[in-house]
Amino acid sequence: MKIIFLITLTYIFHTFTYASEAVGFYSSGSLDNSVSIDNYQNPKLLIKLFRSRGQLYGTHELGQALDGLSAHMSLLYPTIEPVQVGDMSSVNGGKIPRHKSHQNGLDADVVYYRINELAQSPTDSEWAEYFVNSGKLNSNFHSLRNWEAFKYLVENHSVSRILVDGAVKKDMCRIAKERGESATYQEVLRRLRIENTVHKTHYHVRLKCPSGSPKCRAQVEPPQGSGC
Ligand SMILES: [Zn+2]
Repeated sequence: MKIIFLITLTYIFHTFTYASEAVGFYSSGSLDNSVSIDNYQNPKLLIKLFRSRGQLYGTHELGQALDGLSAHMSLLYPTIEPVQVGDMSSVNGGKIPRHKSHQNGLDADVVYYRINELAQSPTDSEWAEYFVNSGKLNSNFHSLRNWEAFKYLVENHSVSRILVDGAVKKDMCRIAKERGESATYQEVLRRLRIENTVHKTHYHVRLKCPSGSPKCRAQVEPPQGSGC
């Protein structure tokens, strides 16, 4: 009994002392007690790209979202490639090269799912595949699996936005309609926001301010409706 009490107390103390916190705005902020991607539950289901850049960190909530995504998708599709994660945040957050956002542990770049189920190499120094060329999706873009991934993220985690190329948004509107899911998953479509130029190779998931991050500044919510 005494031991259980002590273990519980230690756990509470640990959680309380080391809980991660997003501070400030996604484009002007920092990150306290960050969680490294190396401490996630399902390391075999994830590949961290561009590791030498050091952007391996996020909030606990971001970890739950990426870890949960990899577990969910590999249950649905056992042969699926691992979740390939690009830049996240640096250990204490703040400004990093190449990005305006990614500053407070709520942002991560993730490669779209592929038809050929091949992950890119963790030693590549850049994104390996452009899924959008001249405004059109290539034949290796897996519409259904990306749609399932977006559904999982928005339905199960506190997602603010998922930034995608316009061709991807159009395709997700199409597949939702085709499957009769446009109304059921309007919220998923709503959070898929078009940001062209950089999102031909990957999407960018941004979480809302977690409840345990009182110093985090929320982004304005996207307008109502699917945006299709
Ligand atoms: Zn990004």
